[in-house]
Amino acid sequence: MSSYDVIVIGAGPAGYPAAIRASQLGLKTAIVDNFRGKNGKPALGGTCLNVGCIPSKALLDSSKHFEHARDHYGSHGISTGDVSIDVPTMIQRKDKIVGQLTGGVAQLLKANKVDAYAGTGRLLKDRQVEVTPMDEGEVQVLSARNVILASGSIPIEIPNVSFDGKHIIDNAGALDLEEVPETLGVIGAGVIGLELGSVWRRLGSDVVLLEALPDFLALADADIARAAHREFKRQKLDIRLGTLVKSAEVKDGKVEVTYEQDGEQSQLTFDRLLVAVGRCANTAGLLADDCGVSVNQRGQIEVDEHCQTSVAGVWGIGDAVRGPMLAHKGTEEGVAVAERIAGRPSHVNLELVPWVIYSEPEVAWVGKTEAEVKSEGVDYRTGSFPFAATGRALAMGEPAGMVKVIADAETDRLLGVHICGANASEMIAEAVVAMEFHGSAEDLATICHAHPTMSEAVHEAALSVDKRAIHRVN
Ligand code: FAD
Ligand code: AMP
Repeated sequence: MSSYDVIVIGAGPAGYPAAIRASQLGLKTAIVDNFRGKNGKPALGGTCLNVGCIPSKALLDSSKHFEHARDHYGSHGISTGDVSIDVPTMIQRKDKIVGQLTGGVAQLLKANKVDAYAGTGRLLKDRQVEVTPMDEGEVQVLSARNVILASGSIPIEIPNVSFDGKHIIDNAGALDLEEVPETLGVIGAGVIGLELGSVWRRLGSDVVLLEALPDFLALADADIARAAHREFKRQKLDIRLGTLVKSAEVKDGKVEVTYEQDGEQSQLTFDRLLVAVGRCANTAGLLADDCGVSVNQRGQIEVDEHCQTSVAGVWGIGDAVRGPMLAHKGTEEGVAVAERIAGRPSHVNLELVPWVIYSEPEVAWVGKTEAEVKSEGVDYRTGSFPFAATGRALAMGEPAGMVKVIADAETDRLLGVHICGANASEMIAEAVVAMEFHGSAEDLATICHAHPTMSEAVHEAALSVDKRAIHRVN
């Protein structure tokens, strides 16, 4: 039986960095993964690289170019004639990027001397791992001093709406459509629904998002959600709130969706239906009955604040455990667990994991919303600044959105920073750094920001906490 210091099950953005870091720290490490790429071959990188973060951003970029060429180039004096989209070429570009990155992970693992097994891992008792090869080969059992469970997540399927891979699809299906559907229904106006709905709307689909909750983007700060909602409406992304989908049926090549709104049932018909109602931990079959690791009612592996499970030497990270289902959260946990196994102190601050929605405008935030701060009874102040008042946003043709800063009224410590606007995904990093260093609104307000940049809006929003903004009336 081969034995290791560390075996990682799952090579997504949580698992593969854990394996690389463990090996860097001198630990003999193996990783087991069972993801198959589009070509049917093993593909490392998990959901994120294969059917999540990266391919969605590739298509968001292609569709943004298309929309800008069609609708916005004229105002720059650029004429293009008729603009058309060749969907197979766009998908090939996306596949190439995915291939580059998943191949890169394989190379990184090899260069770091991590043994990679293409197979399905199952945790047995005493930190043994059974590996069933994906293709031919014998089942083998490996042993380890430490096992890191990083099996990720899978799309949630709702009752009476079954994926058929063609008409009723999940994220993987929506990243691989062969043509632009005339009509696309999306169940769930969360992060994934908004991003993938935006891709196909930009390319010409009539997109309707059916969202059960009465509030738009309930997780985000209400002012930011309102600003984003306004922009999406302007783009004719049809978002119907308080709309609970009850069932969907494929009839004559179309999908008939039955939903309930204000107590009444109605129907809508679409060419394609994307189900984007969230993801659940992928732990079915991962744990032998006697392995000792507990999972909660939602199927998540139960871990403490250091990602330690109920069994010594067995750890859980990423989407398979509590906390936001975000790639960078899993990566930080993976690295932190490897450090702890090597006897070093490390910790991930789940309070300061940045959220990003890569719509146009982008939405990003870190820390608490105003509603959260209020409900905690904290005395706070807010400042905000619209991008329309910054020169760079106007020069870029991206005036939509705003920055909002929330700070403790007494200490001025930053409690939350919320951005809706172009490049919000990049700008939020400044706020994360400031908050990790326990910074104040005053800190952001007194740091020199380059002119003209979008980040000047962060500066001005921080100034406006103290009613000192220069380019708006306080
Ligand atoms: P995963 O990436 O799911 O990887 C788990 C891996 O483990 C998979 O390869 C799986 O096949 C393998 N596995 C599972 N069970 C076993 C087993 N028993 N044996 C062997 N292998 C196993 N997050 C962001 O931060 N930014 C984004 O922009 C973003 N965009 C997204 C867009 C979409 C469309 C989707 C669906 C998700 C997006 N996410 C994004 C979320 C992100 O993809 C996940 O948070 C992230 O992939 C979780 O990483 P993970 O390593 O925990 O799990
Ligand atoms: P997220 O968790 O960000 O992926 O968002 C998923 C969204 O889907 C949430 O906002 C849910 O409220 C929504 N949702 C879940 N089930 C349904 C349903 N049956 N009909 C409409 N929306 C739903």
